[in-house]
Amino acid sequence: AKAKGRNNFQFYSQEISQRDHERLGLEADLRRSLIRGELMVYYQPKFDFMHGEVVGAEALLRWHHPERGWVAPDSFIGIAEDTGLIVEIGEYVLRDACRVALEWNRIHQRDLHVAVNISPRQVQQSDMGATVRKVLAETGCAPRWLELEMTESLLLKDHAATRTTLETIYAMGVNIAVDDFGTGYSALSYLTHFPITTLKIDSSFIKDVIHKPSSAVLVQSIIAMAHGMGMTVVAEGVETAEQAGWLKAIGCDMGQGYHWGKAVPAGEFEVK
Ligand code: C2E
Ligand code: CA
Ligand code: CA
Ligand code: CA
Repeated sequence: AKAKGRNNFQFYSQEISQRDHERLGLEADLRRSLIRGELMVYYQPKFDFMHGEVVGAEALLRWHHPERGWVAPDSFIGIAEDTGLIVEIGEYVLRDACRVALEWNRIHQRDLHVAVNISPRQVQQSDMGATVRKVLAETGCAPRWLELEMTESLLLKDHAATRTTLETIYAMGVNIAVDDFGTGYSALSYLTHFPITTLKIDSSFIKDVIHKPSSAVLVQSIIAMAHGMGMTVVAEGVETAEQAGWLKAIGCDMGQGYHWGKAVPAGEFEVK
């Protein structure tokens, strides 16, 4: 039986694709990346159209692998989610973001907020409420300086536990944003079931607002709906002055994108 098992294993080994190999390698490396200090948090400016100034930043994870160099989040966040490593990595990002928010608010005489991406697994398989409370207390970051970005996929499954967690976090005074809004799902009713403060319109719509009337109408409608529900709107992936001008004219609250700057280390971040 043992020999047979080994044969089966060999057969299976040969079937493992290049991609699986790649993934297994990355998974092992990702486990070590935290202790080796290879994970860094970069910050991308968020611009307020009405006040004409930077009002905060989104925290974006960066991994500098010793052999591979920079590995894009899209290549490793999924692995971190599947393995559960995202819980530990996510807490690391949250702590860094809270420290940075405290530092910026000490230096600058206005409220600056930091937005942190939260994976569904962090909400569903860890006590997010307790983690947020702990990290805020440890760092001295004010709750209003923190925003948590959630995906639509999490909110579409209307779990009582998710709602309780988000209500706990909201009650602390932390803001809650829906990330990549408009992609993938058509059911909007979840917006009324959760305490949401911000909608982040996905970059795919912003890309087309100047040339595609249907995208322009969609973005205007999202803004009207969000404002009607008391939410703030952030346009993502703003790359040109033309897009920024159009968004300002139609009453979008904030913009984020290469037009103002890409994500940089906290020390290089400029509050303009
Ligand atoms: P996201 O949350 O939608 O973040 C926005 C992505 O768009 C970032 O990619 C950002 O660098 C990029 N971006 C910003 N402005 C522009 C622009 O003007 N044009 C274009 N083409 N792209 C722009 P990034 O940093 O590679 O992150 C990719 C995704 O990885 C994020 O998408 C987010 O879903 C995930 N991610 C990043 N950091 C974290 C994290 O700490 N935790 C979790 N759970 N996910 C993260
Ligand atoms: Ca995000
Ligand atoms: Ca996004
Ligand atoms: Ca995204």
